[in-house]
Amino acid sequence: MRKCRLCEKPAEIYISSHNLALCREDFIENFERRVERTIRKFKMLDKRERVLVAISGGKDSLALIHLLNKLGYRATGYHIDLGIGDYSRESLERVREFRKREGVEIIVESVRDEFGMGIGEISKRVKQPPCSVCGTIKRYMFNRAARNFDSIATGHNLDDEIATLMGNVLNWQTEYLARQYPVLESRDSLKKKIKPFVFVSEYETATYAFVENIPYILEECPYSTGAKSIFYKEILNRVEERMTGTKLRFLSGFLKHRHLFLASGERKIDLKPCIKCGYMTTSDICQFCRLKERINDKRRQSWQKFSPE
Ligand SMILES: [Zn+2]
Ligand SMILES: [Zn+2]
Repeated sequence: MRKCRLCEKPAEIYISSHNLALCREDFIENFERRVERTIRKFKMLDKRERVLVAISGGKDSLALIHLLNKLGYRATGYHIDLGIGDYSRESLERVREFRKREGVEIIVESVRDEFGMGIGEISKRVKQPPCSVCGTIKRYMFNRAARNFDSIATGHNLDDEIATLMGNVLNWQTEYLARQYPVLESRDSLKKKIKPFVFVSEYETATYAFVENIPYILEECPYSTGAKSIFYKEILNRVEERMTGTKLRFLSGFLKHRHLFLASGERKIDLKPCIKCGYMTTSDICQFCRLKERINDKRRQSWQKFSPE
């Protein structure tokens, strides 16, 4: 039987990328220490600042807020009920269960309260893909909810980050590459964004959530099936199987050479406040308010259709 590298107890967890076999206790400590090192290295957060953690109800986001509070950071959660059938109902249930157990503050807001309908229906009404509508709405609501916070943290892990990186590299989206970084400083109405889990794999966050007894939703969003990011993750997993350590090397190598793309990210975009809500945007009315207008317009139209006049 394999022994923990740090003590004499039997090893329960093996992290192949670091060739490290650890017992449960030492895995927890090692995982937390590595995340804290990332937080310090990239100057993400200090213990006086207030951070809003985007909570989906999945393992990464719940593990992140659990870890931040455990290490003494001032983290509050923020969950958006997207109104996507059973998936959203179950996510909300896990979030409530977690909130009760951990005694942590989690703010909950709902897309239905804003638009009178969930993501699926909005997407049909405005004839835009659900993931693009969802992205616009989430970004807006997160930034609005974070008004009184210093930063927004998300649970993106190494696998998420390199799937995005692969997509950006395959299409040579140099502007996106310039902006892909574990920390994004605040800009106009956008809050500082941090990703403390970028150097830990999905396997590690799942293991951490499991050994720390965190209740989370297993299902992915039903709209994410067939997403490119899932395909990229499968490919990267196969590469990692053949060549251990590739995932970490891909990300750290990119961060080392990222300066090559910075010029592409400097394109000055003129932002002005949305005339409806004040959110900084490139046009007169921001995308969120435009979605709202279109939904309201559609509602009026269909109401007129059925009115007797
Ligand atoms: Zn040990
Ligand atoms: Zn607006």
